[in-house]
Order: sequence, then structure tokens, then C-alpha cells
Amino acid sequence: MANTQPKVVSGLQLWQWRHQAIQAAIATDVPPAEVDWLLQEVAGLDRLALRLESFKNWSQIHLKLPLEVLDQLWHRRLNDHLPVQYIAGVTPWRNFKIAVSSAVLIPRPETECLIDLAVAAAISSQTIPPLQQGHWADLGTGSGAIALGLADVFPESIIHAVDYSSEALAIAAANAQNLGFAKQIRFYQGSWWEPLASLKGQFSGMISNPPYIPTSTLPTLQPEVMLYEPHLALDGGTDGLDCIRYLIEISPSYLRPGGVWLIEMMAGQADSVQEMLHSQGSYYNIQIHSDLAGIERFALAYLSVEC
Ligand code: GLN
Repeated sequence: MANTQPKVVSGLQLWQWRHQAIQAAIATDVPPAEVDWLLQEVAGLDRLALRLESFKNWSQIHLKLPLEVLDQLWHRRLNDHLPVQYIAGVTPWRNFKIAVSSAVLIPRPETECLIDLAVAAAISSQTIPPLQQGHWADLGTGSGAIALGLADVFPESIIHAVDYSSEALAIAAANAQNLGFAKQIRFYQGSWWEPLASLKGQFSGMISNPPYIPTSTLPTLQPEVMLYEPHLALDGGTDGLDCIRYLIEISPSYLRPGGVWLIEMMAGQADSVQEMLHSQGSYYNIQIHSDLAGIERFALAYLSVEC
């Protein structure tokens, strides 16, 4: 719906709004720093202008949203737990600014580590041609964050990004376009590997941040997550491991010998995942890696050469 309300405000108006928004954040236990982050995105203000409040004297400030709409959304942040990233429509992730909507999971800082792990795995592998080249898959791409990260670090590869949600794919494709990776990333609608059947046995690697929260745990998540983020991206079934189990079983027929299998998981799942990778029988050099909070968060393995 076209919004006809004006998007230009005076510095003084915005200063007053910011002051009230910060007070309201403090009163409702929302980090007040979210106000300034939001104003950087919505009003294009930089941190210094915010800190010194120098914008107070500016005659005009252009907003991406009318101030009334911003104010309504901020109230939904405070009262209804709407994530601030969905208000801004973007989130920082690695060196990117990634567009998000409630059709996609907000990419998390810990997920950034998956890209560094893929780089380290490719460097330590001796396979020819090197793993940095060829086909990589991002299964359940959501906003496209992992695909973008991979395209950035492996410029000689082709990234195949799959999602079940067409709405998510539209956002991921727009992100690839806007960030200059449209030629290197291909998008597919479908379930996990299914749209990539013609490339069986050829993948240098696959990465996924699959849904891994046990269904019964979902209601205990922060309301920001539970109420607004897509359950398709969160709900991993009874024990949270449904998708991971499936990816362990099916990926050997898609990876090339020596190819990398790499996923994110939840605290407490590492032992089960390691055990499943072992008993599947096609993987070697199985590794568990922690995130920066010390939580065992990632599982990595290589496809056996004999496979
Ligand atoms: N890390 C997300 C959370 O904290 C879950 C992401 C996922 O299920 N892949 O809610």
C-alpha cells in the first residue's frame, strides 16, 4: 500500500522522537541502543551525529518511513516484541547489509562462523580440483546470507541456494542482486537437495543452517523469535534433529569424494550429530566446532573418497 505521509522531518522533531523512544525502551527493558541502530538505518544518521545529537539543528532529515509509521512500529517493538531488524528491513551480517522480512530468519552472528569453517576446511583439504572451486550448496538459504558469504570467499565457485519458501527466495535473490552476486548464485525452490538432482556427486561442499529447535521447545524461545520468525526455519521436529538426520543420510550421493558437509546445530546436539555421521559410514574427519560463546554449534565432515 502506497504511503502518502511525509517522510521528511526536522532535526528537532526527530530528536524529540529519539528522546521519547529511548525513555520508553528503558522502561520496557528493551536495549536503548536499538533506537540509534534503527535511526542509522531509517534516517541515515551516523553514530557521531547521534551521539553528539548534532542532527537536532538540521532543518530536514529524510526518513525511509513516515515518522508516524516508525513510531507505530517502535511501539510494536516495545509492546509486541517485533524484532528491530524487521522494522529496519535489514541486518548486518559479515561484511554485508542483508535485507530481511518476516519471511526469513534473521541471520545470527554465530552463523557467520560457518563461512570461516568452510574456508578452513577447503584450505586444509588436499583434493584436486580444490574445494574452493566447483559447486557449493546452501540448503535452506532463507535471506541468502550463507550463499552470499560463500560466494564472497569462494569467487571461483558456483553457489546453489535452495529454499522451500518462494517468499524467502525472492528476498535472497534481491540480496544477491543488490550485493553484486547475482551471477555467482543460483536459486531454486524445493526441498533440500531435490532441485539439484542433476548435479549429484559433484558438490565440493554443502552448508546448511537447518531448523533444529525441538517442536516442544519453540514456545520457550524469546517472543521475538517465537512470534515473528518463520517456524519453517526453526522447527526441527520432536528432537530437533529431523532435518539434520535427513541431510546426513542424503548428502553422500550429492557430494564429490572429499567434499565438505557442514551444518549449524543447537547446544546439546553435538554428540547425537557426531554419532549419526559416524554410523552413516560415508564420512570421515568428523569435527565439532564451537561458536564464540563456547557452545558446540557446528558439525563438519568430509565425504569418504571410497564412496
Ligand atoms: N539460532 C536460531 C535461534 O536461536 C535457530 C536457527 C535454526 O533453527 N536454524 O532461534
